[in-house]
Amino acid sequence: MSRFFSEKYSELTPYTPGEQPRDMKYVKLNTNESPFAPCQAVIDAAASAAASYQLYPDPDCKALTDALAARYGVAPDEILLTNGSDEILNFAFMAFCDEKHPIAFADITYGFYPVAAQLNRIPYKTIPLKEDFTLDPEDYIGIGMNIAIANPNAPTGIAPLVSDIERIAVSNPDSVIIVDEAYVDFGTESAIPLTKKYDNILVAQTFSKSRSMAGARIGFGIGNKALIADLNTIKYSTNPYNISRASAAAGVAALENDDYFMNNCRTIMENRAWTVDRLKELGFDVLPSSSNFVFAQADWIEGGELYLALKSRGVLVRHFTLPRISNFVRITIGSIEQMQRLIEEITALRKERV
Ligand SMILES: *Cc1c(COP(=O)(O)O)cnc(C)c1O
Repeated sequence: MSRFFSEKYSELTPYTPGEQPRDMKYVKLNTNESPFAPCQAVIDAAASAAASYQLYPDPDCKALTDALAARYGVAPDEILLTNGSDEILNFAFMAFCDEKHPIAFADITYGFYPVAAQLNRIPYKTIPLKEDFTLDPEDYIGIGMNIAIANPNAPTGIAPLVSDIERIAVSNPDSVIIVDEAYVDFGTESAIPLTKKYDNILVAQTFSKSRSMAGARIGFGIGNKALIADLNTIKYSTNPYNISRASAAAGVAALENDDYFMNNCRTIMENRAWTVDRLKELGFDVLPSSSNFVFAQADWIEGGELYLALKSRGVLVRHFTLPRISNFVRITIGSIEQMQRLIEEITALRKERV
């Protein structure tokens, strides 16, 4: 820390992204990226948009907003495009939370929430998940705080019920419920329809996972138009041109080819089922996943050890050191070839140990 760093950030611990190693080629199952490249139309759209890079992009991002509105059955003024969904999450924390409007979220959830709260000096409360890592909706009924819920949750992969999200929203009418749906396309129900009925639900989604576009940084929020207007105030006060020309064009092309991406999601779900079966045969306890990763622990190897052993064998997974989950690893579901390699390496490792 330099002697110039603002005191208001002296306590800030930044989010730690998963490793993006450059030392060798790994089977990379650590950051929940898609194993599939985007379709050619997306690549072509980005390239031709780059030909106009001398011009600023459309700050309203109208073409992509309209395409998303059509895809999700909402009005364009109920959508805000952001630079990845981390940006919509940060905007929502900035817009709706403060000393008088703290936020609550689970003890085991996306690590960006406590960081965004600290960054914006928002008091936050963590509510423990149940022993089986499911969320108990009763813990959130009528708490009178803003709430962030990941649907499905990360890194557990477990999805709450949309009907429980609805009960939570109804019981906290003066608070905003942020529903983070980064992984919703891998087999669970979205809360987007609830945004029509309730003015206090903001759904955040992203092109990073199910649409193979983590590198393009496209996220979006869907909610009541008054919420979106507030978020636009924050956006135009921080970064009006938050979506690049190439990303906006690529996003439109992706929605024009939605079948390609939704088919890939189905393949990932099949590969997930295969991987879960193999892991169970290898003595793993695997949490029920509705996402493109599984969260698993074995009784024959500790989580940190498994992470290191797999890394030395060329397979990268993610390990978190938080007490409740330190025995687990989070494994991204990739192509079937990648998953076969993972299972081979774990099988070999187990032969050495058991
Ligand atoms: C990956 C992820 C995001 C955001 O990713 P972006 O690349 O910023 O869109 C948000 N929430 C969760 C739970 C995630 O895992």
